[in-house]
Amino acid sequence: MDQNYLGLDQPTRYPRTSLAVAVEVLVHGPRSRAQLADRMNLSPASLTRLVKPLIAGGVLIEAEPVRSSALGRSSLLLDVVDDYRFIGVKLTADTAFAVLTDLRAQVLDSASLPLSATTPDDVVRTIQALVRSLARGATIDGVGITLGGRVRNGVVVDSPYLGWKQVELRQLASVVLDAPVHVDNDVIGLTNAEHWFGWGRGFPGFALLTIGAGIGYGLVLGDALVPTETGPVGHLPIDQGGPVCPSGHRGCLAAYATVGSITAAASVGHQRTLGFDEVIALAQEGDLIATRVLSDAAWAVGRAASMISDVTSVRRVILSGEAVPLAETAGDSLAAGLNQYRAVDVPPVDVVIQPADFFEWARGAAVVALQREFPRAPGPRAGIE
Ligand SMILES: [Zn+2]
Repeated sequence: MDQNYLGLDQPTRYPRTSLAVAVEVLVHGPRSRAQLADRMNLSPASLTRLVKPLIAGGVLIEAEPVRSSALGRSSLLLDVVDDYRFIGVKLTADTAFAVLTDLRAQVLDSASLPLSATTPDDVVRTIQALVRSLARGATIDGVGITLGGRVRNGVVVDSPYLGWKQVELRQLASVVLDAPVHVDNDVIGLTNAEHWFGWGRGFPGFALLTIGAGIGYGLVLGDALVPTETGPVGHLPIDQGGPVCPSGHRGCLAAYATVGSITAAASVGHQRTLGFDEVIALAQEGDLIATRVLSDAAWAVGRAASMISDVTSVRRVILSGEAVPLAETAGDSLAAGLNQYRAVDVPPVDVVIQPADFFEWARGAAVVALQREFPRAPGPRAGIE
């Protein structure tokens, strides 16, 4: 398995192949030894050797036997020991959204706070308040923070939404949070969440296209996250006669399908300022302007999804983000865009729609921490004040 899949940029605490077994059980659920050996191409003896340190270290547990076949044989299932808690924080231009999750990224609690100011110190104080309120004194195994923009090794290189450049966010947050802190791009967090716990599970390759304030693009190939810089896919050329994006391109994807492009186009038609939800509601009532704008946007998203599939060879494309309701409201146009240049002998792109409010993005942030902190090193754990 690949490094990225296992998140092995942290020091390893268990043999590498043992980790692969632990991740297999975490991602795909309880498995018998025979199932694991089969799925991972290992001999029963190898599997036993690999599993041993995981059980000794409290990572895996042998659960109650279940009758597994018509022959009446029963087998013990190995499962993860889930006494983990993670917090994910997604930063937008004006709000911090946070969730508390377990080891399988199920959301146990959530909270949000407005960002009254967006200096790094102010934002870190807001994150600290959210983490305290969600942790309630319990031990937290990792805090993941994600935001739109480029992130390298915990440093926010550039975040247009917060106006940040070269902000050492992981270091700043680590000073005030009594838990390991990980920082990453928000689309990467969402891609990781889909890979392990969502529509990408079981697919060695898939793409994620998010439509919202901006366009995001995540890619997994051969079970590994492929680094995709934020931005470029947003400017895929769709139609030279299309509208103009903020970068001055005529007819790129962003010119059609961001919240700003959609509301601007519908507002021009109606000669008044409309919000995104209003545009969706108007289209559902049959309003001609909203219908046209959403249909153009959905067609553009379909074109982009088919281009991504064509150049990467992934068949599954997950659509997500705040503007994804347009894909359902204008499903026919989405399909038209997907199929416009499809060769007759190529199967249709397998598109799935994953609604994502900002708490779903925060869950992606929790997965960023989860992938890097599982399994934890044996030993005592400190609590959050
Ligand atoms: Zn553009």
